[in-house]
Amino acid sequence: MYQMIASFAGMSFIGVPLRGDFSLDLGAMIDVIEREQPALIFLAYPNNPTGNLFSDRDIEAILRVAQGVVVVDEAYHAFANQSWMGRLGDYSNLLVMRTVSKLGLAGLRLGFLAGPAAWIAQFDKVRLPYNINTLTQVTAEFALGHIEIFNQQTQQIRQQRVHLMQQLVDMEGVTPYPSAANFILFRVATGMSTAIFNGIKAHGVLIKNMGQSAGPLADCLRVTVGSPEENSRFVEALRAALQQS
Ligand SMILES: *Cc1c(COP(=O)(O)O)cnc(C)c1O
Repeated sequence: MYQMIASFAGMSFIGVPLRGDFSLDLGAMIDVIEREQPALIFLAYPNNPTGNLFSDRDIEAILRVAQGVVVVDEAYHAFANQSWMGRLGDYSNLLVMRTVSKLGLAGLRLGFLAGPAAWIAQFDKVRLPYNINTLTQVTAEFALGHIEIFNQQTQQIRQQRVHLMQQLVDMEGVTPYPSAANFILFRVATGMSTAIFNGIKAHGVLIKNMGQSAGPLADCLRVTVGSPEENSRFVEALRAALQQS
């Protein structure tokens, strides 16, 4: 989406591939930043679809080197224990973006950007009048009035993530990656991701096949953490698919 929206806005986009362990390739990032002087850098924290949090030191180095703004995209914040929100103001070019989408309110189309007043004032100039519709505003106010229900849900997903992670760790032929989001990325044997994806689907469970690309996501699948019942159905489907493949 960063790439698509950049091109809609008439900007050029440069993606910098992550390293094999999904950490930032800081050397490559700094080279590109120095060469291209980007107006805008996005860092998803936790990252999608890998689920990891980039290291503080890497992000600090990027903030220091970047001449433009650095937006830390915290769409999955509710499932992570870390945030850059508390560090707003430490760097004049740091902005933090969040959304209510991953709390289960994706249909509201509501998100927000936080950062130094000088930057927010500039973004306000290009914001469309009434860019957030009344139904969304009223619904968001109602939902925030019951925030404890959303907190319970995210808490349950975080607990289920630990449980699901343990089951994947114990399973032969599967390598899961640590996640601070509401999904887990895992790797299967070379060339097997599509067969396993189809096997899981044949058992009535749909996850995401990330594994067709070459590069660091080769042979990877991504599963969203669900209710305890959904997670056990997924684990059963995965076991069956692994046996058949
Ligand atoms: C879901 C998501 C968003 C925001 O989605 P919206 O529904 O448009 O608010 C932003 N960044 C990442 C990495 C996401 O996964």
